[in-house]
Amino acid sequence: MHINTKLIHGGISEDKTTGAVSVPIYQTSTYKQNGVGQPKEYEYSRSGNPTRHALEELIADLEGGVQGFAFGSGLAGIHAILSLFVPGDHLLMGDDVYGGTFRIFEQVFVKNGLEYTIVDTSDLADIEKNIQPNTKGLYLESPSNPLLKITDIKSAADIAKKHNLVVMVDNTFATPYFQQPLTLGADIVIHSGTKYLGGHSDVVSGLVTTNDPKLAQELSFLQNAIGAVLGPQDSWLMQRGIKTLGVRMEEHQRNALAAAEFLTSHPAVANVYYPGLSSHNGYEVAKKQMSGFSGMISFELKNEAAATAFVEALQLFTLAESLGGVESLVEVPAVMTHASIPKEKREAAGIRDGLIRLSVGLEYAGDLLADLEQAFEKSGA
Ligand code: PLP
Repeated sequence: MHINTKLIHGGISEDKTTGAVSVPIYQTSTYKQNGVGQPKEYEYSRSGNPTRHALEELIADLEGGVQGFAFGSGLAGIHAILSLFVPGDHLLMGDDVYGGTFRIFEQVFVKNGLEYTIVDTSDLADIEKNIQPNTKGLYLESPSNPLLKITDIKSAADIAKKHNLVVMVDNTFATPYFQQPLTLGADIVIHSGTKYLGGHSDVVSGLVTTNDPKLAQELSFLQNAIGAVLGPQDSWLMQRGIKTLGVRMEEHQRNALAAAEFLTSHPAVANVYYPGLSSHNGYEVAKKQMSGFSGMISFELKNEAAATAFVEALQLFTLAESLGGVESLVEVPAVMTHASIPKEKREAAGIRDGLIRLSVGLEYAGDLLADLEQAFEKSGA
């Protein structure tokens, strides 16, 4: 079935009791049991809720997983995934990941005995040479946040498989509409559902899926045991958002390409990072493993000191964290989304203080380019 059809009919797309075409919001914490020790299909909403279950089936269908899991945030999902490992296990983590992902590795799981090494996952040799006898997993983003680096997921997974590593891919930037990491050899896919999947900047959520029944069983246990589940209202909002993912992603991509080309040709711009530009290092791999390049762009001004004035001069691009909503957003990763990464680690990964990240929304492209142009003029960039 084509992904566009799955977006509408995937998962559980209607209510089995009433036939409602929008799965109802089952706003309940518990369920009447038939007798002592005889629950019906659901018994308590942390363990399972029909609205959440429909969303979980949907993400599994979209990514090609056997089971899906919905969490109260992307980080809650990452917490559950990292809880698969035990003290003394070592993981490889991509050098360009969301700041909060770095923080949960460094400040939560290291304390609990997990070890990790930061690697440039877009360089396969760097992955291979950092594998140790106790390495159990490879965690990466592709495209990565904020530098839009591309990892060859299939080749990375081939290396990882030789060493029995669990391959975890954060697919937030691409979404299953443009890329399906499980089909490329990944074992687990994680999303900040807050972003493109929800799509309207009105819900915080995390979605996880796997195609390995054993990992699914473990994640199912962890989701219930840790308990950071997504509520029924937000699960419904997520399903509503996902129905239009295809049309939104096509338009995000169209606008992003226009903005990336505009920035590339602008005399005040030093570097543009967008995997849909043939000048991007990862362009060929991106073309091979993705069906589109999504809507995220990062860039640097020649006059790095003008970055703050530039982003503050923008009017349609709202200065805010997050991404993937219908409205265009702008941010400075070094002081916003990636501020939790120490400066020397950030700079080693290439995230300089003047880097600007755009989430290109669904406004009319001409208006977005005009906004960028007026900000160049106003800021003196
Ligand atoms: N992964 C990526 C790529 C992100 O950009 C983010 C948040 O910005 C997260 C994970 C964390 O998700 P959440 O903010 O929903 O906890």
